[in-house]
Amino acid sequence: MSWDDRWMDMATLVASWSKDRSRKVGAVIVDERNIVVSLGWNGFPRGIDDTIEARHQRPAKYKYTVHAEMNCILNIRNHFSLDNCKMYVTLYPCAHCAQSIIQSGIKYIIAPEPNWNDATYKEDFAITRELFYEAGITVFHVDGEHQEAASDNELKRS
Ligand SMILES: [Zn+2]
Repeated sequence: MSWDDRWMDMATLVASWSKDRSRKVGAVIVDERNIVVSLGWNGFPRGIDDTIEARHQRPAKYKYTVHAEMNCILNIRNHFSLDNCKMYVTLYPCAHCAQSIIQSGIKYIIAPEPNWNDATYKEDFAITRELFYEAGITVFHVDGEHQEAASDNELKRS
């Protein structure tokens, strides 16, 4: 089993911990030595009551929910540098998370292909792609079973 498969499996496991009722997303950041640096999933910020029903309704829930990628970055303690780290995430990032990913120093994203018909994020996905391209973030796509992750590319050598 390749490291890519392991980390994507872990991202999928982490996604299952989300309490989001419609879309559970998980993210894992690993460093250049393939050591796990952080985990994150989508959910309300720490201390925020997620038993209040109204907060789970659209569009309110978008204002309460921290995305998996953001939680993964924000869960880092002690100003650990994310320079040149890789993020494995189970959903192609929205534009807001893409901004944070770029600013954090992460250089590689491993994620499924964006769903260009996604009702909520299809416009975001186009902007994310533009942002990643311009910022020099390398994106590897994995299929649904994430068996094809990053084959024949530099990730395999890491
Ligand atoms: Zn996002």
